[in-house]
Amino acid sequence: MAPVVGRRNFLEKTMSKTRKKTRSVSVGSVTIGDDAPIAVQSMTCTDTRDVEATVAQIERLTDAGCEIVRVAVPDEEAARALAEIKESIKIPLVADIHFDHRLALGAIRNGADCIRINPGNIGKDKVGQVIREAKERGVSIRIGINSGSLEKDILASHGAPTASALVESALRNIRFFEEMDFHAIKLSVKASDVTTMIEANRAISEATDYPLHLGVTEAGSLVNSAVKSSIGIGVLLNEGIGDTIRVSISGDPVAEVGVAYGILRALNIRRVGPDIVSCPTCGRCEIDLFRLVEEVEGRLSGIKDYFKVALMGCVVNGPGEAVEADIGIAGGRHTGLLFKKGKVIRKIREEEFADVLMDEIHAMLEEKGKE
Ligand code: SF4
Repeated sequence: MAPVVGRRNFLEKTMSKTRKKTRSVSVGSVTIGDDAPIAVQSMTCTDTRDVEATVAQIERLTDAGCEIVRVAVPDEEAARALAEIKESIKIPLVADIHFDHRLALGAIRNGADCIRINPGNIGKDKVGQVIREAKERGVSIRIGINSGSLEKDILASHGAPTASALVESALRNIRFFEEMDFHAIKLSVKASDVTTMIEANRAISEATDYPLHLGVTEAGSLVNSAVKSSIGIGVLLNEGIGDTIRVSISGDPVAEVGVAYGILRALNIRRVGPDIVSCPTCGRCEIDLFRLVEEVEGRLSGIKDYFKVALMGCVVNGPGEAVEADIGIAGGRHTGLLFKKGKVIRKIREEEFADVLMDEIHAMLEEKGKE
């Protein structure tokens, strides 16, 4: 379904939460850090050299609300493809580079808004060349510290990729960038172990004021990643730590954007997209609630406005449990009560649930648009 409102017009509330003060860094047109909204990022899983497939995936991500996209740059051809990709997309482009500094130089020259490097696997002298090029062209750099690729000496002295090893690596790299008078830095300190990731980010947030990119790396498939990312990213955000987030999922990256906004909504940090509240059902339920939830979720996808929809199995507890919802249905015997803001409006038949709900939601959004 086409979005009800334009991508750039969607209603978004950035809630006030005490947030660690960080510097602001530009990634193309998006500001990261300071009091800018916590930006949602994702990464394509296409072959970057296949420009058509990569642009198509980025368009899907953009429609889902992704604000910054990263692509892998494994070789020269992929670096060259960035120019064409950049021309065809509407959101800032980050190039992900490992090992070869020439690819970083190529990505910068081909229009990347930011590059993500792990200096530990490139080497100091070569990183220096990359920093000079980025500075000249106004490109920001994400220093990506990862538990899987720490500098050998740090790993040896800590014996394992612990939180303090990650922090030491991050601080060493920051010092080097600062010595070169480069400050357009974002920092990520990632681990696949959630508690290590939390501990490392807490420590790095104490030690520096560069904006932090949060993520649990190699988090697994949808359910696993949603759990790990919600805990890892969520705990930190709730403490005011973090300026941009990426949920990583083994699967369609569009789902990453949905989970990321789910985390931000659950913490009342950013309200983007509908919040669907539904009950687990019990012996009182006499409608096919699971099917209704699936259908409504599908038909609401692409809508960026925030509102709360409650889909409840019965009238005993339904309206009461969903009193804060903007709109909802509480099931009866193959019927349901349509309610708005906790007040019952009318009775409807089960087969018309989804259509009536969607009509009402569209009317509600049109009304909001006029305000
Ligand atoms: S809303 Fe009704 S059907 Fe759903 S869990 Fe509560 S009591 Fe059971």
